[in-house]
Order: sequence, then C-alpha cells, then structure tokens
Amino acid sequence: MKINNETRMTKECRTPNDKMSPHSLSAASVLVIRHLSLVRHSLIRASAFLLLIFLPALQAADNISVLGSKPQWSVLEHYQETITRDDFDRLIQSVYCTHGFAPDLIQINEKTARLIKNRCAQEFFTLRFAANNAEHQPVPRLWRPTKSLPAARSGKPLSGLRVALDPGHLGGKWARMEERWFQFGNSQPVQEGDLALRVARLLGRRLRQLGANVSFIRNNNEPITAKRPDDFHELARKILIKNGVPQPRADVLDPNDPEKEQTIRWQSEILFYRYSEIRRRAALVNFKLHPDLVLCLHLNAEGWGDPNSPTLTEANHLHLLVNGSYLAEELEFDDERFEMIRRLLSRAYDEELPLADTIAAAMARETGLPPYEYPTTNSTTKVGSSGYLYARNLLATRIYRCPVVYCEPYVMNSEDAFARIQAGDYEGTRNVNGTERKSIFREYADSVVDGLVDYYSKARCSRDR
Ligand SMILES: [Zn+2]
Repeated sequence: MKINNETRMTKECRTPNDKMSPHSLSAASVLVIRHLSLVRHSLIRASAFLLLIFLPALQAADNISVLGSKPQWSVLEHYQETITRDDFDRLIQSVYCTHGFAPDLIQINEKTARLIKNRCAQEFFTLRFAANNAEHQPVPRLWRPTKSLPAARSGKPLSGLRVALDPGHLGGKWARMEERWFQFGNSQPVQEGDLALRVARLLGRRLRQLGANVSFIRNNNEPITAKRPDDFHELARKILIKNGVPQPRADVLDPNDPEKEQTIRWQSEILFYRYSEIRRRAALVNFKLHPDLVLCLHLNAEGWGDPNSPTLTEANHLHLLVNGSYLAEELEFDDERFEMIRRLLSRAYDEELPLADTIAAAMARETGLPPYEYPTTNSTTKVGSSGYLYARNLLATRIYRCPVVYCEPYVMNSEDAFARIQAGDYEGTRNVNGTERKSIFREYADSVVDGLVDYYSKARCSRDR
C-alpha cells in the first residue's frame, strides 16, 4: 500500500503520536488514535472524534506526553522581563501557535502573560514582560547566539562554534524495526540511519577543518537509550487498551500487516526507537554537550509500500524544519506547552530562522532540488524566505535546548536518489544517470557546510576584517 508522504512523516517524526506516559493515559490516547486514523482506519477515525469530545472529562491531574516528565515551571522565573509583549505575541502568533489554542491556556495581557500550568488544578505561571527592548533582562541560556561568539580566526569561519551532529534514526540491525529500510531487487538495502551517519561523518570532518568544535550525538548504529522494546511491553499494552484495543495482539504478522500498529510489539518498538531514544539524545545534548547548534540529518522518502518490493518515484525534493507550528491538541499537554514556552523564551528561533534559511538556500543551490510542499498546512507553517523552510513540532526540535536545524533533503526512493545511493560515496564526480555528480553523501555534507559558512561569515565578526 502506498502511504502518502504526510503520513510517512507523521509516522516518522512528529509528536501527535507522542503516545503517552504512565502518568497520563487520556489526552494522549486521542493522539495515538488520531495517528492511527491518519494511516488507514476510517473506523478508528470515528472513535478519535468521540474521544476528543470527551477529552476534558478524561483528563488526569498531570497531562504529560509520551515518556515526558512533569514540567518545572519555576525555571521560567529566570526569563522574567526578558521579552517584550510584542515579541512574545509575535512569536506565539506567527511561529509557535499558528494553529490556534484553547484561549485559557495562554492569556496575553498588557504587562504579563498568564500560562496554565495545570488546568484541573487551575494553577498558573505569570510571566512579566520587559517594558521595552532597551531595558530587557538578559536571556539565560547555555548556548551562544552568533553575536556572542568570539571573533572568528582567520580562514576559520566556524572557529569556536560548538556543533552537535544528530544523524537521524539508528540504522544497522535496527533499520527494519524502525521502518527505515527497503531493498529493491538484489541491490544494497537502503537504510536511512546508515546514510545519515555517513553524511554526518563527512560533515564532521569538514566542519572541524573550518574550526568548529564538533560532537556526535550518535556515531555508530547503536541506540543511546539503555532501554529496549521489551522494557515497554506493559506501557504499550496500556496505550492500546486506552485506545480502544481491549485485547491487543502480542505480535505483528509481517511488515505489511494492516493492523500492526495495534500490536504490543509495534507499540513497544516505537516507544524504544523513537520516544526513549530521542529523549536520551536530548539528555546528552542538554546536560553534557551544550552545543550552540544541533544539526539533525535525515533523508526523506515518499511512501514505498512493501519494503521488499518498494515503489520508486520520480519525485525528489528538499525541505528543512525548525521548531514551531504546534497543534492545538499538542498544546494541551502540560509538558509540551511548557517546552514550547521555554523554547520561545530562549529565543532559539531568532537564531534558527536566518541560519536554517541560509542553509536551505545553499542546499537548494547545490542539490538543484525543488522545495517540498506539504499536501496540507495542518501540521506545518512555512517560514523564512527561501521557500524550503517549515516550522513543525518534532520531538527533537522541541526538546534539544538550543537552536536546531533539521534537514530533509532527497527522496531515498526517488529514481535519482536511489541510483546515487547505490553508487555509494566517492571523491570528485562520476556519471550517474547520465549526469556528472558528486556522491550524494558529499553533496549533502558540502551543501550544509556552505550554508553554515555563508551564515557565520556574515553574521559574526572576523578578526581579519
Ligand atoms: Zn528521518
């Protein structure tokens, strides 16, 4: 069955399928059903509607997303009087809450914003605005905005910049479980996690040559999390029961099993490789690496159907993502709402927008790819001026506490990208599909490097100027 790209991306990355934590089974259950409904079950879509209607009555005291933790609202005290009302309102309206939200969640008054910490308990956090831009308090953060970086060393436009590379997914023996694997005939299997790691290694080498301090969030095909799918059986069972599958099956029949998402195995696996893994990566970023920037490296795909007999397509495209564009139902989660506000107050977007737009322009120039257009505007908001950049609430872009640029070039199962992936990595150019091309891995890495150099050469002062 052909899965459209929106569905595939939804499955891959975004948070509506942030299913639930043991703390909160109710609101999250709406979302998992919503996710299932996107895939193919019209019957379940109807149940999602019912659950949504009854949501307020079902809400538990703490309303936390999958494997999330209770927000520490007191942290926001450090952001008092750091932002003007106008800036706060602009970021809410045009970046973070572009799909609206329940009006009681965030009330923007003249001098303060009233934020609901917990709706049931009617607990609020009051954020005081800065009177004007000249008098605001300094924004606390562990990453450095470009303007605070020391002057660049001569010929090293990225000197001193701390960049963490996050090759998406796991690859290796996990690729099939992640559903990031397909094989066409007897060709080499295509595994997104492995391709992203290859790009990351090439990119890391070049960034170091340009003076950057590079760390890898993942540098092999093993998970960061110590958990494994077996650790999530009980939670998976609870999720399914709460979502109207009273007696969930233990196992998936085969990769094309239409009801695989209603099995304990499928749910436990996704809790492992997506939720647990990305949350562990976030802990590494937030508590150990403290980078100025994270680059999430992915390759896109169109629905390929049966992974053992995949559909190749002519469509090939590029887009980049930064955090934003939260759905109204995502903002109902106490932790997601808190993380959104903390991110907004950290002013990561001020850095992400021009940087991601510049990288997007360089990648577009060098790959020649057209911009990806989402089939709906239900989950994304186009931002910037390159035409390639979207705001979207992905787990990684939300919880890595620094600017995050998320790259999605190439459709792996396009005829062009597939041939280039099969050609492997090489120096210089080769004739692939009738055109002299760099290896797809080097083209990816080089175009990101060029975008970074374009941005930082202009945005930071250089000692030799
Ligand atoms: Zn990916």
